[in-house]
Amino acid sequence: MTEILAESFKVYGQDGGGPFVLVSDHAGQAIPPTLDGLGLSADERARHIGWDIGIDGVGRKLADALPAVLIEQVYSRLVIDCNRAPGHPTSIVTQSDGTAVPRNQSLSMQDRAWREQAILHPYHQRITQELDARLAQKRAVVVVALHSFTPVMREVARPWHVGLLHNHDSRLAHIMIDLLRAEGLVVGDNEPYALTDTSDYTIPLHGEQRALPHIEIEIRQDLIAYPEGQADWAARLASLLPQAWRIFCTRYEQRP
Ligand SMILES: [Zn+2]
Repeated sequence: MTEILAESFKVYGQDGGGPFVLVSDHAGQAIPPTLDGLGLSADERARHIGWDIGIDGVGRKLADALPAVLIEQVYSRLVIDCNRAPGHPTSIVTQSDGTAVPRNQSLSMQDRAWREQAILHPYHQRITQELDARLAQKRAVVVVALHSFTPVMREVARPWHVGLLHNHDSRLAHIMIDLLRAEGLVVGDNEPYALTDTSDYTIPLHGEQRALPHIEIEIRQDLIAYPEGQADWAARLASLLPQAWRIFCTRYEQRP
């Protein structure tokens, strides 16, 4: 596999001088042409197993509203999951939510390495570069990881409108949970998933290991499947994220 890919990420929006750097690991649906759609139908690829439905619209509208820079992964999580460490058992899945992924069965070391080098590493290097540049200017930085989750998993309906995932530094997540609950929303606290050292990669790598304040947010997909819902959520987050950051700076005596 020697195919040269176009850039695996897109950078959207403009740096408005605020602290937020938006990242979206699962915003994309693209599959490198030589992988032949991974052997899946277009319908299967468009399901939640292929990407985080709706989060591309939320991310871009939020980037416009703040304004802020958004770094988006272009390729489907089924090619390689950019929220998993290289070599993680679910980095390149052989099946997802009952769907076998034909072109991911018995991959060679070379095939895995190519996906890491063409897709995973350039995306994370671009995020690192963005954070490094701001820290070099002594700016405050908050990493905001955007995700969406399927409303039903294994025939169980999920009640949360939105979830905040956190682990080693829960300070900003707890503030955001309170603000979202004050809006009357059902808010998951480490639901529908808990953040752990191994379940995720982006926030452990760019937030926790660098001791940067961070938010990992999951929005239920039926709420943001269409542009109207995406705009509602982008407006909500564009209002609440700066509020949460102001509370954080006051409470923890951090320079805004
Ligand atoms: Zn996701």
